[in-house]
Amino acid sequence: MRYDEFHRWSIEDPEGFWAEQAKAIHWHKPPQHILDYSNPPFRKWFVGGETNLCHNAVDRHLDERGDQLALVGYSTETGSVRELSFRELHREVNAFASVLQSLGVGQGDRVVVYMPHTVDAAIAMLACARIGAIHSVVFGGFASLNLALRIDDAQPKVLVCADAGIRGGKVIAFKPLVDEALARAQHPPAHVLVVNRGLAGELPMQPGRDLAYGPLREAHADAQVPVVWLESNEPSYILYTSGTTGKPKGVQRDVGGYAVALALSMWSIYDVRAGQAFFSTSDIGWVVGHSYNVYGPLIAGATSILYEGLPTAPDPGIWWKICEQYGVRTMFSSPTAVRVLKKQDASWLKKHDLSKLQYLFLAGEPLDEPTAQWISESLGKTVIDNYWQTETGWPVLTLMPGVELKPVRLGSPGFPAPGYDVRVIDENTGEDAGVGEKGVLVLQPPLPPGCLSTVWNNDERFVASYFSHFREPLYSSLDWAIRDGDGYTFILGRTDDVINVAGHRLGTREIEESVSSHPGVAEAAVIGVQDAVKGQVPVVFATLKPLPGADADERETAAQMLQTVADQLGAVARPSRVYVVNALPKTRSGKLLRRSLQALAEARDPGDLSTLDDPNALEEVKRALARGP
Ligand code: ATP
Ligand code: MG
Repeated sequence: MRYDEFHRWSIEDPEGFWAEQAKAIHWHKPPQHILDYSNPPFRKWFVGGETNLCHNAVDRHLDERGDQLALVGYSTETGSVRELSFRELHREVNAFASVLQSLGVGQGDRVVVYMPHTVDAAIAMLACARIGAIHSVVFGGFASLNLALRIDDAQPKVLVCADAGIRGGKVIAFKPLVDEALARAQHPPAHVLVVNRGLAGELPMQPGRDLAYGPLREAHADAQVPVVWLESNEPSYILYTSGTTGKPKGVQRDVGGYAVALALSMWSIYDVRAGQAFFSTSDIGWVVGHSYNVYGPLIAGATSILYEGLPTAPDPGIWWKICEQYGVRTMFSSPTAVRVLKKQDASWLKKHDLSKLQYLFLAGEPLDEPTAQWISESLGKTVIDNYWQTETGWPVLTLMPGVELKPVRLGSPGFPAPGYDVRVIDENTGEDAGVGEKGVLVLQPPLPPGCLSTVWNNDERFVASYFSHFREPLYSSLDWAIRDGDGYTFILGRTDDVINVAGHRLGTREIEESVSSHPGVAEAAVIGVQDAVKGQVPVVFATLKPLPGADADERETAAQMLQTVADQLGAVARPSRVYVVNALPKTRSGKLLRRSLQALAEARDPGDLSTLDDPNALEEVKRALARGP
């Protein structure tokens, strides 16, 4: 079946389509109804069906591929590699699940997982899934405030943490951060389970509350914990959005719909089958980490590689070395990470045997054309842009090589994934925007399987955040898009990032692309700043590439950037100022914090900074603003 036909089937006959896809996973009890949409915008998929994520990810593969590698934890930080077959993973997950049960964790209880990107984190997640507990993974790079907020939102019975993480060789002790968070939290868990990696020395342990996992694991090593079968719509986990536009939202995911959507995406989008190797460079703390480091590849019976370390250490060839060693077929990363590699010599991409590698998928941020071009040429592989959100759990826009690989069009993530009825509509009229007309990207409900069920503990926020922007109850992505005559969709930036210059509405992305096409620019963020005459004017913050030999004259480069934009997009888009900085403020997941840049440029409070990565970057922006362009 070709792509167009496949997608049309999913939209015109959703129940038939998803009933067919549901056969890809194991059901303890088959669904009674495929879809219940009696309470819009809430919807339930596979109603009455009973299944379990851990069973589908682990147990199901034991007979056929028990000795095949399931997870590889590759750490250049600790200099260690941990390989687990499906059978070994099964054993570890059972032991962990048994320990959780011994601490009183059961179906529906929450467990906060605050761990570095390791195999242990995946084991903890799968153990929760096995016993029907709801995990809330908190990115290991977050500090105690973030952790405390997420603890209070989930009100967990147990918190699982590691003694420490490492980043760039620097050990970051987690346990003191946990203690701080627990002191701040209104609803601290009864127990803290500490997985000791032996990195942080003697750990402060509170008797009765804190428990070392090591000895408990020994005691439960042979435990057999029966899978708890869950109705398809029971919650599986809570995960927060990146906080790029404000306070993070706690996405609640289901069980059956998620498993089915992931199974479908693994073969149709990522073209991965059982026995093949999949390498996603995301951290387990993000949605990509949940869907494509843990559940997706394992449900497909593939090997998943978890990499702990920098993309450039010990050298910028490390990812490709891993690809060679494990015969990786599909790789998944982010534009931000590729831009880091772009600052290095392209020859690093040629040093390893990448004959097994077929695709590189990139997601999370706009993939600018210069970066897309650079990586596809340097790698000589198909590079596919994926557009999706924490909320959706799996791609919304993509190319689908497992069904039919349509030609890549630089700058566009392609076409709707199956089940997604994607529309681009005029934000005022709510009518479909024409070909080549900018509009808001919306999804016609009901949302397909895999997407969020609601916002955790907050149905009102679910409706208010996503379904209340238009007369019709459409799901708003809050992203700005445009569709060309061949049906390729382009994402232009966030709806609240749009710049309105004297009545002309410009996407931040268009101007950023244009600025980035200057050979001296490494990365650019464009924001709209209030202007008495024009309403708003575009302002650029940019980092420059270290150009060998050249006397980097910042002023001249800045002037050239402005000219480039004027030449490419017209005088109206010409930014009024350029600030050259050494770093741009980003979220921990690598997204540009344009709202904070804008606030500072307009001398306002920078807003919720709980997910800010490097505080120095923000300080530098303040200094640059004080200094002037
Ligand atoms: P918050 O919702 O808390 O403000 P966030 O939107 O950054 O944070 P995520 O769910 O991590 O949280 O990111 C999803 C967003 O990232 C999308 O809505 C879109 O703006 C952007 N994005 C993701 N992938 C792409 C892509 N391929 N091209 C362009 N933009 C993308
Ligand atoms: Mg968002």
